[in-house]
Amino acid sequence: MRPLLCLLCLLLLMTIPSVRAAPPLLIGSGSLTGVYYPAGGALCRLLARAPAKLPCQVVATGGSAENLMALSRGALSLALVQADVQITSTQLPPLYRLFNLHQESLTLVTRLDSGISSLAELANKRLDIGNPGSGDHSTMLALIQALDWPQERIDQLSQRPGSERAQALCDGEIDAFAYVVGHPSSAISEAASLCPIRLLPITGEAVERWLQAHPYYQRTQIPAALYAGVDTAIATIGMPAGLIAGPQIDEALAYRITQQVFHRLPQLKRLHPALSQLDQQQMIGEASGLPLHPGARRFFVEQGWLPPLPDTPPPRS
Ligand code: GLU
Repeated sequence: MRPLLCLLCLLLLMTIPSVRAAPPLLIGSGSLTGVYYPAGGALCRLLARAPAKLPCQVVATGGSAENLMALSRGALSLALVQADVQITSTQLPPLYRLFNLHQESLTLVTRLDSGISSLAELANKRLDIGNPGSGDHSTMLALIQALDWPQERIDQLSQRPGSERAQALCDGEIDAFAYVVGHPSSAISEAASLCPIRLLPITGEAVERWLQAHPYYQRTQIPAALYAGVDTAIATIGMPAGLIAGPQIDEALAYRITQQVFHRLPQLKRLHPALSQLDQQQMIGEASGLPLHPGARRFFVEQGWLPPLPDTPPPRS
């Protein structure tokens, strides 16, 4: 009798469809020493909790532009992308923004002994603008074009990944590097711990003209006293980073992700100091970047945070 029972059990097991766990959401971030990577990790921790219980994994990448390409070809489900890179991207739709995350600033870091104290003095120095595929690379190139640097100068710029630049600066391989990043960032703390540094203000007439021509940049300040030796606030330009969804994120999933993050916003703010200033209104910010995802919009409209689009029925109560 026993062998027959076992056989029956086996047959029964073979007829039950196998229950496979949903593949994890893959969140594209940036280099390990930026803010995107820990911010992506913080989002994953939140999404994995009840009630959403969405398995999630953060992926280190080359940054904003690389993230958009990976989203377009379906290699990532979600990714962090600078607002200016979202706007100037030529990627194929459908890519949508769920919400803005932290503010980032264009940060020019130099060694104190480099003798550089202004943007103009950078013109003849060894400057690293970040790896192609990073947002640093594209924002800094846009600024350099606004400053009218000659092409032969642009050809000399080096392009290292984010995690290598602090060491290269303090080893004297470069005189300065550009990083579009939230603050505090461990890449800048690392540089400040390896050698005395200075952050350069990004101001002047050409910068003003550039800001006026590109309203998605805002004047901002890197707060004082975040990094060793940087005791005053530094004027620069900034933009928000956004959480962008690729084609795998349908309306219902976008709604669930957005709902989970906004319901747990106080927790998210505690998970990294660069996220501590997150503000609901700024996160919804209509003006910048890719179009808002219909699933995220549905959540914001239901909460009364955004007006319904014309011609859409009011949300069911
Ligand atoms: N803004 C940078 C980029 O888009 C990444 C900054 C970070 O990793 O925090 O490449």
